[in-house]
Amino acid sequence: MGHRVLIAAELQRLLEADQLAGLDVTWLPADQPTPSGDYVAIVPLLSRWVGGTELKRLPKLKIVANCAVGHDNVDVVAAEIRGVKVTNTPDVLTDATADLAWALILACARQVVAGCELVKSGTWTGWDPELLLGIELRGRTLGLFGAGRIGQAVGRRAVPFGMRILYTARNPRPEFERATGAVRAELSRLLRESDVLSLHVPSVPETKGIINADTLRQMKPSAILINTARGDLVREEALAQALEQGRLGGAGLDVYTDEPTVHPRLRAAPRTVLLPHIGSATAEARRQMAAIAVANVQAVLRGDPPLTAVFG
Ligand code: NAP
Repeated sequence: MGHRVLIAAELQRLLEADQLAGLDVTWLPADQPTPSGDYVAIVPLLSRWVGGTELKRLPKLKIVANCAVGHDNVDVVAAEIRGVKVTNTPDVLTDATADLAWALILACARQVVAGCELVKSGTWTGWDPELLLGIELRGRTLGLFGAGRIGQAVGRRAVPFGMRILYTARNPRPEFERATGAVRAELSRLLRESDVLSLHVPSVPETKGIINADTLRQMKPSAILINTARGDLVREEALAQALEQGRLGGAGLDVYTDEPTVHPRLRAAPRTVLLPHIGSATAEARRQMAAIAVANVQAVLRGDPPLTAVFG
């Protein structure tokens, strides 16, 4: 009899039998509540909240191996109090997410989605010198709010586009600065000077709602906001209003406050490119995320330290 573990059912096809050796797996579909029982590990998707109530129901739990780099769906403090380790899946999704941020930057700067809709609807009337004019990125300023793994990867991709880079981070990143010419700046300068502002901080109390009516007012009316981090960094009503009133150039979003519900005003707002939380959605990244999550479980059950601990 193996160790009883709960693993998100949606990960089943990404995992090989040898990765699951020694585990007695209960596959847990996303639409089912977390059960109680003598499970020693849970591998949740980011859409599953694992808080004090869930942890109480799982008294034998040793690890929450989140299948995401963000871990705002786990009550880390409650886990720490109960001696439950929490792990995430950093690095393997950095390039995929940075690529997607760039897909959004380019799509917004060049009205890619509006152009696609025009052609597909059969309403395109021919080449026009003023049709769907966008902005050139060369010489413009990319502001990175957060310059961790993904923020820096987005910044490195900006170099061949000829963009100037500003970043806001708690700690300076001298190597990143040397490699890209990026300059560390306060958020107020980032808001004032960015032509493209891209968010790459985790959702924590200090960052929630950081893009709100007040900070939006400080941005250039032509600026593009990109969010591939977490939806609740942005006050969606205020963002929709800024777009409706022409006080912001555009928004490219992959994440939302109340997924999969998207604020109706945001869905209707002009100059938006809205994606369904697919930042890490490459076959390579998703396979490696599942593999690391389960490898963390195996390590903890062996009595080894986890590979990628959030803490503990
Ligand atoms: P990371 O390497 O930990 O970088 C996080 C950055 O945020 C660092 O620059 C860090 O600054 C900064 N930061 C942390 N706490 C902060 C705070 N309280 N105030 C201001 N800055 C703070 O994380 P990552 O791997 O780049 O991932 C970033 C986020 O992207 C994740 O948390 C996740 O929510 C999101 N994500 C989304 C997708 C998607 O599918 N759309 C995919 C992957 C990740 P210091 O280093 O100076 O502390």
